[in-house]
Amino acid sequence: MPKVIVITGASSGIGEAAAKLLAEKGNKVVLGARRMECLTKIKEDIEAKDGAAEVLATDVTKLADVEALGKLAVEKFDRIDVWINNAGLMPHSTFDKLKIDEWNQMIDINIKGVLHGIAAGLPTMREQRAGHFINISSIAGHMTHPGGGVYSATKYAVLAISEALRQEEAQMGSNIRVTVLSPGAIDTELPQHITDADLKNGMDKLYDAVAVPAERMAEIIAFAIDMPQDTTMNEIIVRPTVQMP
Ligand code: NDP
Repeated sequence: MPKVIVITGASSGIGEAAAKLLAEKGNKVVLGARRMECLTKIKEDIEAKDGAAEVLATDVTKLADVEALGKLAVEKFDRIDVWINNAGLMPHSTFDKLKIDEWNQMIDINIKGVLHGIAAGLPTMREQRAGHFINISSIAGHMTHPGGGVYSATKYAVLAISEALRQEEAQMGSNIRVTVLSPGAIDTELPQHITDADLKNGMDKLYDAVAVPAERMAEIIAFAIDMPQDTTMNEIIVRPTVQMP
């Protein structure tokens, strides 16, 4: 049965790969991110393969934007079956660099962005008495390292938010599923935003050495979505086979 799937941060990387695979499988995708030119190209690619996609300029730090994305899904496709809170930023730095703007950006995008997605999707899913949130955390949501303190904190937060949401919805019997996907190094634009010169080189080397394509994550997301409704993949940790930490 095709599903209506909202994806934040769908203009590149994991979000783009998931959008394309899920559309190829016959689902209707509703894609948000800030770079409209990338989203438009992705919509064209999907439609060229007879897929269905809608796109909207969306900044996940703005609740009104995220609510508009949810509204678009309901207006165009009548429902929201899956909401993938994927938008994220990883400008690693050590605390002594005092990159306070970047700390705040990570908190706003990686934590508040997920909360905004829940706020925008949950009422519709409750009405439908069915739905599925897929929240993208990270290996960094299970461990931390020098330079990764704030990013890890945001990804631990995604785990806590997701587990509480899961318990609440299970208790309500609302039939809403919650999945957290925690990837290791995936070959995307993510490390490009690191501005701490002392860390950038090391991260680039790690990604060059071990990262796997974003399409792997798309396959895992599709697998989690396709599980029978009475069963949920709650937590998925996935690393490149050669990634050590
Ligand atoms: P990318 O940088 O390729 O994608 C990040 C996406 O987030 C882009 O589409 C970007 O779009 C979007 N985004 C950033 N800020 C905002 C915002 N304010 N509002 C809306 N969208 C925003 O990286 P990935 O695909 O790797 O990242 C996807 C998720 O996966 C993130 O949550 C990341 O933390 C997580 N992850 C990635 C790993 C990796 O190794 N790549 C490992 C573990 C987790 P735009 O700029 O157009 O707004």
